[in-house]
Amino acid sequence: MLEELYRETILDHGRKPRNSGHLEAATHKADGWNPLCGDQIRLFLIVQDDTITDIKFEGCGCAISQASTSLMTETVKGMKVVDALALFEKFHAMVVDGTVDELDGLECLAGVREFPARIKCATLGWHALRSALAGEEAASTE
Ligand code: ZN
Repeated sequence: MLEELYRETILDHGRKPRNSGHLEAATHKADGWNPLCGDQIRLFLIVQDDTITDIKFEGCGCAISQASTSLMTETVKGMKVVDALALFEKFHAMVVDGTVDELDGLECLAGVREFPARIKCATLGWHALRSALAGEEAASTE
């Protein structure tokens, strides 16, 4: 029952990604690419006073990658940069290491750790977030 709900959340976000689009005034951006699955995202952020005041992304790929990125943008919007980076670590611990079981609003992705091939799909958006916040946008082809 619970699992079905989680699956529903992922499918819903995969079909209708939140915060999709781009930000003309982005202060930070980064591209993410997962060659294993072919997922691509481009992340745009506006950071003011160490806070993520706006975030959007454009992307294509599997439902897990798009849903995870969508959930990530919903979660970190309005967050302090330092808190978003701490959340990256927790999310990573949940889906990669399995050392964290609950993460408010993101537990629906915990099951991904049972499917190693999909872990990179689930972490793609988060890696792009960390790169963008670290100012590693130079890889952009624009
Ligand atoms: Zn994927």
